[in-house]
Amino acid sequence: MSRKTTAADVVVIGGGVIGTAVAYFLAKCRMDVTLIERGGIACGTSGRCEGNVLVQDKLPGFDCQLAKLSQELFPVVAREIDIDIGWTRKGSLLVIESEEELEAAAVFCGQMAAEGLPVRMLDAYAVHEDEPNLASDIVGGLEFACDGTLNPMALSQGLSLKAEQLGAVMRTYTTVTGIRLDSSGGICGVDTDCGSILTPRIVNAAGIWAPHIGKMIDLDIPVKPRKGQVLVSERTFQVARRTVIEFGYLMAKFGKGDYQRRITPEMEKYGIAFVFEPTDAGNFLIGSSRQFTDTDTTVDVHVLKAMAQRAIRFFPVIQQIQIIRSYAGFRPYTPDHFPIVSETRVPGFYVAAGHEGDGIGLSLITGKLMAQIITREPTDIAIEPLRLDRFEGRAFLNQG
Ligand SMILES: Cc1cc2nc3c(=O)[nH]c(=O)nc-3n(C[C@H](O)[C@H](O)[C@H](O)COP(=O)(O)OP(=O)(O)OC[C@H]3O[C@@H](n4cnc5c(N)ncnc54)[C@H](O)[C@@H]3O)c2cc1C
Repeated sequence: MSRKTTAADVVVIGGGVIGTAVAYFLAKCRMDVTLIERGGIACGTSGRCEGNVLVQDKLPGFDCQLAKLSQELFPVVAREIDIDIGWTRKGSLLVIESEEELEAAAVFCGQMAAEGLPVRMLDAYAVHEDEPNLASDIVGGLEFACDGTLNPMALSQGLSLKAEQLGAVMRTYTTVTGIRLDSSGGICGVDTDCGSILTPRIVNAAGIWAPHIGKMIDLDIPVKPRKGQVLVSERTFQVARRTVIEFGYLMAKFGKGDYQRRITPEMEKYGIAFVFEPTDAGNFLIGSSRQFTDTDTTVDVHVLKAMAQRAIRFFPVIQQIQIIRSYAGFRPYTPDHFPIVSETRVPGFYVAAGHEGDGIGLSLITGKLMAQIITREPTDIAIEPLRLDRFEGRAFLNQG
């Protein structure tokens, strides 16, 4: 490609699910958008994850309301874009292993119902009637009827294609190498290995690489990679009809500090929590582990073995089924688990990154909020908890 200088109202860096959602919503606002992606669309974490769109693993309050707003956008956007993103809303099930978890689940159920969510407790009989392959000692479940699944790569591709139809320019296989500031310290351009783009606005949607982009203008972005591994089964009979997750993991994550799941030291060390996701193709995904590592995508057989053992604990029938593939991806982690969807102290520089294990589910509300921030429209939800400066302890002026 020839090196040349072009111009855009906004440049989005990163062609994952977040960058493509931002480009799509900006293009819908008739902004002149260019997206730059150093590989193909969804070549980063968005091509190495699972496709759950959940509210069941959120905390009551802002966390839950943000996820709910995003969820409501999926059926609408699925109709607007031309690719089938595999959006299905079969609900999800949290499975409960002990009386202690059952008590905590009842409290959580009440809190989530108060948030306006379609949630209900299932007793041991009802949960086995719902999912007959569950281990016989499972004592109950918590159903969220609103949860869904989709294909994250199809979502990224679909958003990218629709943004292009609305006038956005997609520059894939192009790497951002530098950012230009004007004499007053505001954004004025982006340098890439294929030329430069003059622009007054940049959205950094580079996932786990967002800190590298931030460093180009001396801005700290506290995102780090948290590795997760996934097992893929052969096509098989229906083990479970929808997403199933262990409730104990939520308790360990959010709840009682002293709560210990009955798991092996390896499972504890690798941060394993059972997640089952059936796919449209007739196989299923088993997740997942959580480890702070480098960005080596090699899978670790010890981690995979511990994940398989955890899966068999909930669905013993899984031991009869072949695993055909495994892969690893990197969640863009932030210290408080909330994403960053924010303007910054550099005029014209915005961040949409750090969605950890929720980026697929939160992609659409992120794109919509970022478009509202840039066009100075009222936002669908108060965005203070998502601001970058929450990590810096000081306020920034509202810069357009
Ligand atoms: C195992 C696993 C399971 C998961 N399951 C779920 C789930 O079920 N539901 C859910 O909601 N979330 C899930 N997630 C989280 C979700 O996948 C992420 O939050 C989401 O994909 C992040 O998207 P992103 O666009 O921010 O990052 P990415 O998809 O990584 O996109 C960033 C892009 O920036 C590009 N880039 C970087 N540097 C440059 C540069 N200099 N120039 C140009 N381009 C650049 C990269 O190539 C990359 O494509 C899971 C994650 C993992 C690892």
